[in-house]
Amino acid sequence: MIIIGAGPGGISMAAEARNAGIAGEKILVLEKGETHSWALRKFYPPAKVVTANYKGIDAVCTGVMCITDMSKDETLTYIDQTIEQHQLAVHYNEIVNIVRPLATGGFTLETSNGKYEARRCVIAIGILGKPNKPAYRIPASLNKRIHYDLTSEVVENAECLVVGGGDTASEYCQYLVQHDNRVTLSYRQTEFSRLNRINHESLMALEQRGQVVILRGTNINRLEDEEGGRAVVHFEETAFAPLTFDHIVYALGGTTPTNFLKAIGIEFDGVAPVLKQGYETSVPGLYLIGDLSAGKKGGSINLAFNMAAEAMRSICGGTPELCEKV
Ligand SMILES: Cc1cc2nc3c(=O)[nH]c(=O)nc-3n(C[C@H](O)[C@H](O)[C@H](O)COP(=O)(O)OP(=O)(O)OC[C@H]3O[C@@H](n4cnc5c(N)ncnc54)[C@H](O)[C@@H]3O)c2cc1C
Repeated sequence: MIIIGAGPGGISMAAEARNAGIAGEKILVLEKGETHSWALRKFYPPAKVVTANYKGIDAVCTGVMCITDMSKDETLTYIDQTIEQHQLAVHYNEIVNIVRPLATGGFTLETSNGKYEARRCVIAIGILGKPNKPAYRIPASLNKRIHYDLTSEVVENAECLVVGGGDTASEYCQYLVQHDNRVTLSYRQTEFSRLNRINHESLMALEQRGQVVILRGTNINRLEDEEGGRAVVHFEETAFAPLTFDHIVYALGGTTPTNFLKAIGIEFDGVAPVLKQGYETSVPGLYLIGDLSAGKKGGSINLAFNMAAEAMRSICGGTPELCEKV
């Protein structure tokens, strides 16, 4: 079982799995931050009282983890202790970029550090993730021409610039070419060392056929809007003259949770993912817990803990051989 995100949802999921009798070496938590509970550390003021019935959600606990009203430090220490007591394997500084369901069941995951295979995957990434944005200012007048993903809008028959050098940047180039766009790619390095084989070959083939122009070793330092609203891109490198585009697509890492889920192929009903019993998605073996599944009202720590317990009961009910204690 691979669990994505080491917040209250992810850590309690791993603790529930251990409590159900799953061996420690069969459970892995992957966390993009340098430590667990990134959201609590970043957004909670130091002197905050962490309330057990946050947003009026009943503080009734149904699983192995539970908080009462306590300080921020006490809450973090409680999660530290859970990781230690259950001997949970958590890899920090490892962002999960792609989850691919396999036709034969199970998943492959691509992270910043490598690849994994899992029979089950639990996503507990919360709702606060955002795509990375460039450091320079983007004029507000260009907002409609700037994109951080290509899942929400169709861009066709236009002059497009993709910025980045990873798999997502290559995939955006391929997608834009298929939609009759004229595509330029700006990458700050001169070699594409991060691309997987398929994306590398596809990108090189597009370049050879003249369908993508690659500006290697280029750093954008400024954007301005041209009369007529198009984006003028200025480069740090004086060898590269300013260029004008209809659309700029940034692929600088990070994404919104919704786009992360949609890229996996999870079915949505409007803005909410379709969930079955035990928070299983439309993709068999793939679960969403914590704030991701809490709906419009939002979630709480104890709710995330309870969701983990319910997901585990559902997993054990379906495959009791997996769980010694059921
Ligand atoms: C200001 C504020 C105050 C709050 N106060 C309370 C309170 O008093 N009591 C209470 O019960 N609740 C409170 N909440 C709500 C509570 O914090 C959330 O309900 C809870 O954190 C949800 O847990 P989660 O595990 O779903 O998500 P998160 O806590 O958001 O954890 C998600 C984790 O996933 C990681 N992650 C994200 N993307 C990836 C990726 N691609 N790969 C690997 N890792 C990834 C993140 O770094 C993060 O560590 C508060 C929330 C806020 C914002």
